[in-house]
Amino acid sequence: MSSIPKIVILGAGYGGVLTSLRLQKELNYNEADVTLVNKHDYHYITTHLHMPAAGTDHPDNARVSISKLIDEFKIDFVKSTVVQIRPQDRKVILEDGTLSYDYLVIALGGESETFGIPGLAENAFTIRSINSVRLIREHIEYQFARYKREPHRTDYLTFVIGGAGFTGIEFVGELADRIPDLCRQFDVDPSLVKVINIEAAPTALPGFDPELVEYAMNVLQKKGITFRIGTAIKECTPDGVIVGEGEEIKAQTVIWTGGVRGNRLIEEAGFETMRGRVKVDELLRAPGHENVFVLGDNSLMINPEGRPYPPTAQMAMQQGVNCAHNLVAAIRNQSPKPFAFSNKGTVASLGKGEAIGIAFGKKYKGRVAAWLKKLIDLRYLFIIGGIPLVLRKGKFL
Ligand code: FAD
Ligand code: NAD
Repeated sequence: MSSIPKIVILGAGYGGVLTSLRLQKELNYNEADVTLVNKHDYHYITTHLHMPAAGTDHPDNARVSISKLIDEFKIDFVKSTVVQIRPQDRKVILEDGTLSYDYLVIALGGESETFGIPGLAENAFTIRSINSVRLIREHIEYQFARYKREPHRTDYLTFVIGGAGFTGIEFVGELADRIPDLCRQFDVDPSLVKVINIEAAPTALPGFDPELVEYAMNVLQKKGITFRIGTAIKECTPDGVIVGEGEEIKAQTVIWTGGVRGNRLIEEAGFETMRGRVKVDELLRAPGHENVFVLGDNSLMINPEGRPYPPTAQMAMQQGVNCAHNLVAAIRNQSPKPFAFSNKGTVASLGKGEAIGIAFGKKYKGRVAAWLKKLIDLRYLFIIGGIPLVLRKGKFL
């Protein structure tokens, strides 16, 4: 180990950015050499991606330049893609170089889980990054334009969303708000447009409060969403999806929001994983690797009821803060602090002015929940970029 420990952080999402910000605040001059690696030179606010995907917001509003977040005198930022992690050599291979580390933080975020369903990876869109949502937004507009050229092709105006978890529900809420604008813009009769949200479980938002789920479904059905609950997508083709016992739903747009898994690079590195996520210890370290911390969607933690915590931004942020604290403690030979998740609740948007949520043990719905969602969004901007970022990126209407 060199005299100054080298810390390498992979991924500038919620976990990686919070770790970096805390380290730059807590470390003294020359106490450690910190490098943050991310494949883009911007951080994207994943929790906003359903809006640019539907086209109700611009993709640029969901991203922030990393140089505006971190102090590059304290943290080296490397814009590159990680291609391999080699824990046995304490090295990370990038597309254009190699980094060695004494401590590694893996926060590369999740990938879509397709559960091996044929055709999904090839034919469906996913809401995962700025680039993926730009594609969805453009594709949706294009379908309206295509329909005007071939008015017998109503499948151009059928939008299938696979999975009614929080991502699916938030997206259909936005899409329902966007459809009337698109119909006006392209002179399309709104009654021809179908948005079908297909969910395999016996309810939308499985596991969430049933009263709030019912409220959400009512709001979304009134906005024109069709739900197919208890119906599994079995296959995705270039022409649509096959559901249930072989029924075909023709659609030129299929958006898959059916689940997330960890990053394949972690499995390939030889860490023990479950659906690509490392079951970390109470200090967020990979088993058998005292110098490798795994955060956010790449990590797996079990709740007191014995079930995995859902992968959320809230979890990734809290882990980032804890990880930075323990890295500083390790460098200073101090005692580490075990991680304990503090669940502040869940609030999900249903489109403009509507949301549902549970926060601090209370249920919220409608406009109040929508304000709460806005406050949560503004709080995040404040945490990572202070008032200037809130003023630049926060939408106040
Ligand atoms: P991410 O935030 O995904 O960041 C990973 C980073 O790693 C990215 O910057 C990526 O570009 C980079 N990266 C990936 N691969 C490489 C590579 N090979 N090389 C270099 N860089 C790489 N959670 C909530 O708590 N509340 C919400 O309201 C909420 N809303 C959501 C809405 C949507 C539409 C979605 C999709 C998710 C939402 N989530 C929400 C879940 C939440 O966004 C994730 O749990 C969270 O982003 C995980 O953070 P992370 O740091 O693990 O990874
Ligand atoms: P998810 O795993 O939570 O939901 C996926 C849904 O797809 C499930 O309801 C599942 O039953 C369904 N599904 C799976 N296979 C299917 C099939 N073959 N056919 C039809 N339906 C199928 O995934 P998500 O919604 O992307 O959420 C990922 C994580 O991000 C979760 O932890 C979630 O809590 C979090 N998130 C939070 C918010 C928020 O707090 N506002 C918003 C979005 C996401």
